[in-house]
Amino acid sequence: MGGRADEIVLWPLGGIAFVQPPARPGAVLWSIAAGPLVNAVLLPVTIGAYIVAHAQGLQETNPDADHFLHAIAAINLILLLFNMLPIYPLDGGQILQALLWFVIGQATSLMVVSIIGMVGVVAFIGLAIYQEEWWLGVIAAFTAFRCWAGFQQARVLARLEQPPRHRDAACPSCEAHPLKGPFWQCEQCGARFDTFTHQAECPGCGKQFPTTACPECQRAHPIWAWYDTDEKSARAEWEEPEQR
Ligand SMILES: [Zn+2]
Ligand SMILES: [Zn+2]
Repeated sequence: MGGRADEIVLWPLGGIAFVQPPARPGAVLWSIAAGPLVNAVLLPVTIGAYIVAHAQGLQETNPDADHFLHAIAAINLILLLFNMLPIYPLDGGQILQALLWFVIGQATSLMVVSIIGMVGVVAFIGLAIYQEEWWLGVIAAFTAFRCWAGFQQARVLARLEQPPRHRDAACPSCEAHPLKGPFWQCEQCGARFDTFTHQAECPGCGKQFPTTACPECQRAHPIWAWYDTDEKSARAEWEEPEQR
């Protein structure tokens, strides 16, 4: 799965490309960094054009053109600085998320930048009231909406990142599905195995364990108690494709 910009939302300060995250943070980083990089490349061009024209005396010969070049350079600089604020979903916030992704994973990094973004929303609202600028309020509302969506997406991702579990078995006490993997060790021969694929019988020495302790709540139950004994509902679960 590669990154693709599938939605461009126009708002007062230009376009922001929302990129569907591919599995790797490096690819995300490049797809997001493209926008600010263009602004950064344009920066010396626009400022240089203004300085050269100004030195040639454009202010006297054509004050409108001089003013225009100044405005272009200023807008580009402001856009670059604004976009680099580490507030999700601004480019700076998305770059921060991609960088954090390397360290703490996709779900947690999205969670972190969504919360930082909410702090940014509060700052935008305060600034909007203080400056009496309606467009700052629009940005605050837009940022809040995107951060909330990011927060919800992070929760879904966190659930998907969790290790696989035995969906067919559940603890009779706390109803937690046990993790898939060799997390149980035989006290007799030391073999590590998944007791739910071996029905509480050690594959090393054949010892049958009378009870299996729940890793979540520590209470022990016989292995059969972990399974739905109602044959009808068990069959219904089997025939119904597992849904996420
Ligand atoms: Zn339990
Ligand atoms: Zn054993």
